[in-house]
Amino acid sequence: MNIPFLDLKVQHQHLRTELTQAFNEVIDSGWFIQGNQLVLFEQEYARFCNTTHCIGVGNGLDALHLILRGYDIGAGDEVIVPSNTFIATWLAVSYAGATPIPVEPDLRTYNISPELIEAAITPRTKAIIAVHLYGQVADMDAINSIAEKYGLKVIEDAAQSQGALYKGRLSGGLGDAAGHSFYPGKNLGALGDGGAITTNDDALAEKLRMLRNYGSKVRYHNELKGFNSRLDELQAAFLRVKLQKLNQWNQQRKLIAAIYQQGLQGLASLALPIVPDWADPVWHLYVVRSSRRDELQQYLLSQGIGTVIHYPIAPHQQDAYAELKLDQGSLPTAEKIHAEIISLPLDPYLSSDNATAVVNAVRQFHS
Ligand SMILES: *Cc1c(COP(=O)(O)O)cnc(C)c1O
Repeated sequence: MNIPFLDLKVQHQHLRTELTQAFNEVIDSGWFIQGNQLVLFEQEYARFCNTTHCIGVGNGLDALHLILRGYDIGAGDEVIVPSNTFIATWLAVSYAGATPIPVEPDLRTYNISPELIEAAITPRTKAIIAVHLYGQVADMDAINSIAEKYGLKVIEDAAQSQGALYKGRLSGGLGDAAGHSFYPGKNLGALGDGGAITTNDDALAEKLRMLRNYGSKVRYHNELKGFNSRLDELQAAFLRVKLQKLNQWNQQRKLIAAIYQQGLQGLASLALPIVPDWADPVWHLYVVRSSRRDELQQYLLSQGIGTVIHYPIAPHQQDAYAELKLDQGSLPTAEKIHAEIISLPLDPYLSSDNATAVVNAVRQFHS
């Protein structure tokens, strides 16, 4: 058996003709930064997310960072972040000069617990970043109502949730602004780095278009001390090809996830993902928890099945955040999650036979 965790070559073989054509169009245009492909992609992705604006940027981390800059959040400010996330969520806050304040997740959904947010709010708090981890939306109505009460901005980290629904509404338009990543392995991935911001806030959108481009609206006139973080024409052209497949790919992901959800039921030492009735996830990752996680990973590897841990070390336990002095035991839910989780293979081109083989191998180990 050979079931890799993820093999992007398969996806690209299916799209080779369209991607090559997009590549040729950009070469022939002779225009590589801030051109027509970007304009079209921004229109198409805003439509996909049902927002009025999309601003293409260099990557997902920059998207989150620029949103914070756009809202003038920086030194002396605090931003609430989930304790259980990819470190980019925290780094965006640090880049802006603000302090990330971690709040623990719900152990069932892995997303930030709205009922724990209020206790973390201080007079310095300016925003909440809600991460839709593994492709499942956070409880946005609860988060938005707390934010409204305290006058905070709500920023979605939608890096893993392109197309996911919350009570029928699309990820990317559920707060004040959302950061998206097009890292190759994401549900919508470029052939390199890429990112975007979606928002319905006209003033923010106008400022972000400057911030990503040296703080300039009119060439060589710089109104702000901006950055260079742009989604280039090649990546925009590739993303336009792939965006047309995204809904279909997300449907495939749901079919694989359903095979796992059904096939893995009833194992005492294995916790499966829990989907609240208001969530319609896009299964960026299929993450289970096992008390014998490392042994399970070794066993699956011996059976030719690739798995990945997303993520092995919680952000507060990374050397990069030693300054926060959050020792072992300070965020126990995040620590427990990081110690027990394992992501099974899941991508739109994984066959149902292979998904069933993964189910059988996991059941074999836990029997
Ligand atoms: C991938 C990811 C990011 C960062 O995106 P990049 O494009 O790699 O910078 C941020 N947050 C989450 C939750 C992610 O998964």
